Amino acid sequence: MLDINNQNWNNWQWQLKNAVGFTELPALFPKHDFSGCSAVDSLFTVKISPYYLDLLRKENGKGPLSRMALPHIAELMSGGFSADPFGEEQGASRCYGVKQRFPDRALIMVSGSCTMNCRHCTRKGLLGSAEIVCSSEHIKQAVEFIESKPLIREVLLSGGDPLMLQDESIIDLVAVFAGLPQIDAVRIGTRVPVTLPFRVTPELAGELGSSLKVWINTQFNHVSEITREAEKACCLLVEAGVPVSNQSVLLCGVNDSSDAMFDLCSGLQRIRVRPYYVFLCDPIAGIDHFRVSKERAVKIESELAVRLGGLALPRFVEDIPGAERKVPI
Ligand code: SF4
Repeated sequence: MLDINNQNWNNWQWQLKNAVGFTELPALFPKHDFSGCSAVDSLFTVKISPYYLDLLRKENGKGPLSRMALPHIAELMSGGFSADPFGEEQGASRCYGVKQRFPDRALIMVSGSCTMNCRHCTRKGLLGSAEIVCSSEHIKQAVEFIESKPLIREVLLSGGDPLMLQDESIIDLVAVFAGLPQIDAVRIGTRVPVTLPFRVTPELAGELGSSLKVWINTQFNHVSEITREAEKACCLLVEAGVPVSNQSVLLCGVNDSSDAMFDLCSGLQRIRVRPYYVFLCDPIAGIDHFRVSKERAVKIESELAVRLGGLALPRFVEDIPGAERKVPI
């Protein structure tokens, strides 16, 4: 079924329509052990675009990218953590679909789905059930909320993945929030340049760039994700005037060595994407097998600091519930 010569291969909507689910995996990766994974799938559905599946096939379903995309029975373990340590689902919001943890920023959930369901996802327990700002009434409420908080100067469109929306919806959302005089930046958190780069079309990149307020934060976690297609997507954004930064997650078995991080960060700089943050795994359930200890993270960071100049060197931080900032490790 994986036909990279298919005439629709570069069409992002075709890619989404043909995303692979759990039932198709055993035939695609016959040597992989999926025992117990149907329970994992019912908790957090498997979804992989044909594009990303092709990358998994190149590593025979066994490398770092496969670890991020294929289900693992360890996802059933809570590790002693809850699905929502930041209170994103209950209590933290006083406006439908809007979260405010820091005085100068508001996060607006605009999409409930992604191009791929990453197995390490921080929001895996919330995707599909979170409040989504999608109607004009919701948007009006979000605007009123922001206007009632003059310290807010940055809006983060998040989800899910905001670039799952159609162009018109994205452009409308950007125009509404960028149009507020108090807003200096509209940040879009998206993994599309990594998992479905065809979604970044010249038209969309041009529209985002013309707002003059849009910043993109993406999430490359391994150098093998920097393909020609991903490079093209980032290039379209950068050349349209959209600053692109990268927020990796430090993941056991994916990028937990200074060599892997060096390759990733230097590769990102080569495609003009700023390596910005490396996050320790959030304290959430179902990702304990990805967790890297703080001691190890400190070692990787200090080894990296002597190999990379400041522009290519990300800050290693952790997101701690209740903290006033992202905390340097
Ligand atoms: S793209 Fe982001 S929000 Fe979506 S599943 Fe992956 S990590 Fe989670």
